[in-house]
Amino acid sequence: MAVPGEKASFERVREIFDLKSYVPYKNVPGDPDDSIRQELYESRLYYVHQEYLKYGQRCKEGEKKNFEYAKEHGLLRECECCFANFPLNRMVSCSGEPHHLFCKQCPRKQAEETIGQSRYQITCLSLGGGCSAPFSLTERAKFLDKGLVTALERIEQDAVLRAANIEGLVQCPFCSFAAICVPEKENREFPCQNPDCLVVSCRLCRAESHVPLSCEEATQKAGFSARHEIEEAMSSALIRKCNKCSTPFIKILGCNKVSCTRCGNIQCDVCSKNCDYNHFKENQP
Ligand SMILES: [Zn+2]
Ligand SMILES: [Zn+2]
Ligand SMILES: [Zn+2]
Ligand SMILES: [Zn+2]
Ligand SMILES: [Zn+2]
Ligand SMILES: [Zn+2]
Repeated sequence: MAVPGEKASFERVREIFDLKSYVPYKNVPGDPDDSIRQELYESRLYYVHQEYLKYGQRCKEGEKKNFEYAKEHGLLRECECCFANFPLNRMVSCSGEPHHLFCKQCPRKQAEETIGQSRYQITCLSLGGGCSAPFSLTERAKFLDKGLVTALERIEQDAVLRAANIEGLVQCPFCSFAAICVPEKENREFPCQNPDCLVVSCRLCRAESHVPLSCEEATQKAGFSARHEIEEAMSSALIRKCNKCSTPFIKILGCNKVSCTRCGNIQCDVCSKNCDYNHFKENQP
């Protein structure tokens, strides 16, 4: 376990001393016992904190003693990545032949970088040795914490699924969820089981499901509805067409004098006729 620093959050103290029943003090307005409970809480917290500091000190002293002992007995080794000396019992080794020794921080840093790049393989860090051996599970447990292990597992699972190309394996087009399904002929819908997604998609066109329409009918309908939307917008006076080249443009708040972005034609936004400035003055409210 890492040597804890001076400051500890209450949660951390609870975790270390396994104080699950130790409920933090909560202010209850109007409760006559409130000040007593607060005092009690604070004195207990003070005690726990003192214990925590002593524990940290013991850890530090323990590490120091361990280092001294290793030094005396010739049990210090150089990390093959950062080249600092560490006691052998604080080091991890790759599973290569011969194996290489590292401090715990170096492969841990590598693991964090690996996750950052959405990769999952953690291999030997030795410089120039050409060794690319992995770390055994026992060794990995020495430098990876729960969060890192979970992240690596998730990335690996995704990669394995993708690489396996398993027959009948279907991946949701909207997230990374995958499942083995009956052939498309029997069911062309894919209901995603990922609780954050739950989209039912079409396995043929990979869009959102459009049963009972065929993929073609669905795209036609989508095209139609897009056109329909434009027409609606035009009728609701949002879109105008240039009276010369018919380029559509959207009326933006402000002046009624609009000029076509394509041909430069100037027209009135209200009546779409070509007009001079007097026309605009006449039409102003
Ligand atoms: Zn190192
Ligand atoms: Zn190695
Ligand atoms: Zn999904
Ligand atoms: Zn479809
Ligand atoms: Zn125009
Ligand atoms: Zn006009």
